[in-house]
Amino acid sequence: MEYVEEGPYRFRIARRGTMRVPGLVFASRQLLRDAEKSLRQVVDVATLPGIVDASYAMPDIHWGYGFPIGGVAATDVDDGGVVSPGGVGFDISCGVRLLAADCDRRTLDPVLHSLMDGLGHVVPRGAGPGGVWPVTGRELERILRGGSRYAVEEGHGEERDLRRCEDGGAVSDADAGQVDARARERGLGQVGSLGSGNHFLEVQQVTEVYDEPVAAAFGLAADQVCVMIHCGSRGLGHQICSDHVRMMDKAMARYGITVPDRQLACAPADSPEGRAYLGAMAAAANYGRANRQLLAEAARRVFRREAGARLTLVYDVSHNLAKVETHAVDGVPRRLCVHRKGATRAFPPGHPELPEDLRSVGQPVLIPGTMGTASYVLTGVPGGGAFHSTCHGAGRVMSRHQAARTIGGEQLRARLEEDGVAVRPLSWRGLAEETPEAYKDVTEVVAASEGAGLCRKVARLVPLGVVKG
Ligand code: 5GP
Ligand code: MN
Ligand code: MN
Repeated sequence: MEYVEEGPYRFRIARRGTMRVPGLVFASRQLLRDAEKSLRQVVDVATLPGIVDASYAMPDIHWGYGFPIGGVAATDVDDGGVVSPGGVGFDISCGVRLLAADCDRRTLDPVLHSLMDGLGHVVPRGAGPGGVWPVTGRELERILRGGSRYAVEEGHGEERDLRRCEDGGAVSDADAGQVDARARERGLGQVGSLGSGNHFLEVQQVTEVYDEPVAAAFGLAADQVCVMIHCGSRGLGHQICSDHVRMMDKAMARYGITVPDRQLACAPADSPEGRAYLGAMAAAANYGRANRQLLAEAARRVFRREAGARLTLVYDVSHNLAKVETHAVDGVPRRLCVHRKGATRAFPPGHPELPEDLRSVGQPVLIPGTMGTASYVLTGVPGGGAFHSTCHGAGRVMSRHQAARTIGGEQLRARLEEDGVAVRPLSWRGLAEETPEAYKDVTEVVAASEGAGLCRKVARLVPLGVVKG
C-alpha cells in the first residue's frame, strides 16, 4: 500500500479509484508496518457513500469484519451518508468501565488472593448463558430502553454512577421494537455476564500519574487500587449485527450502493433500514451498559466483603458504536453518523456533553493493554482529530490460534503469577489465546495516539489480578 508520511504519527493514503476521501492513519512507523495488511480496509471504507474528511485509522488498527478494528468513519446523515453495521462490529457497545477503590496497593496485599477468589466466583463468563441477574422479558425490555439506569433503579448502583457514564448510562434513541425474538432470547440468559476471551475484570494499581490535577478530577491518585471491566452486549449485540448485515446486503442495490467488500453492507442512515439498525444498535448499547453496571455492582460487593473497600466510578465508555453527532466540516456544522469501531470517543475540555465535574478537564478515555503489561487512562484534547476519537487498546498482532501455539495456558498462568498477577481463568486455551505477546505494545500505541494529537496521558495502571472470560 502506498502512503506518505504527512507529519509525526500521521500517514496519508491518497484518494484514488472509487475512494471518496483519502485514508488517514495515525501510527508510528513501526506500528504502521505491523498493520500493513489492514490498510486495504481503510481504503475500502473510504468508498462509502457520504463519508466526509477521511477514512481514519488509530494506532491499534488491525484486521476486522469489513472495517478495520481501530477505524473511524463519519458520514453525512443529511446527504445520503450511510450507516454500516460492520463499522460498529459484532460486539455492539463493547467498552470499558473503570472504578477507583478507596484503598492503595499495600492495604490490599494481604487480602488480594481471597478478593480474586471472590471475584472469580461472582463473575459469570464464557461463551454460553449464565447471568448473575436472571431477568424476565419485561425486565429485558427495560434494560434495552434504560441501560445502566435500569440497574441503578433496581438498586444495583448509585445515581452518581449514571453521571459518570457516556450518555448518562443510556442511549436515548434506542428502539427496543427493532430487537427481535432471537436476539432477545440470546440476551435473556446473559445479563450481567462477561463473555469470552478478550473480556475481563481486572484489579489494577495506578503506578504513574502524568497529570495530577486531571487525575484528581477523575478520582485517581498514585498507588490507588482500581477495577477495570471490559465487556459488551454478548449474544444480543451479535445477533443484531448479523441480522442487519444481511438485511442491508439485500437492500443496497435498491439504493444504488455498491461496496468493494460485502462485509461493508450499509444503507443510508436516514432510510428505513438505516433507522432500524441504529435503533436496534442503540438498544444493544443499553444492554452493554447495563451489563457493565451489574458487573461493577458484583465487584463492589466483593470489595466490601473482602477488603472493606468502596469502589467509585471513574467513567464508562464504549469503543464499538455509531453515533449521530454534530461536527464542523470545513467550518460548517453537520450532522454526522460517526462510526467508531475499536476506537474510543475522546471529548476535549469544555465539551457541553461532559458532566459538570469533568467539564474543565475533558473526558476520561480508558485504554486496556494486556493482563501482563499495563493499561492507561487518557483524556480528550482541544482540536482532537478523527472527530474526537482515539485508540481503544493495544490491538492484536497475533490471531487467537497463533497465540495459543506460542504458549500453554498453565505455563502462562505460572509466568503471570510469578510477575505478581493473580489469574482466575475460565479455560487454559482461552487464557493462552490472550497472552500479552498477542498484542501490540500498549505504551507505543498510547504514545502514538498522544503524538498524533488525539489525546493526552493521565495515568498508567498495572494489573494485580485478572478474571478472564
Ligand atoms: P477488543 O475490544 O478489541 O477485544 O479489546 C480491547 C483491548 O483490550 C485489546 O486491544 C487489548 O489491548 C486489551 N486487553 C485484552 N485482554 C486484556 C486483559 O486481560 N487485560 C487488559 N488490561 N487488557 C486486555
Ligand atoms: Mn467485546
Ligand atoms: Mn472491546
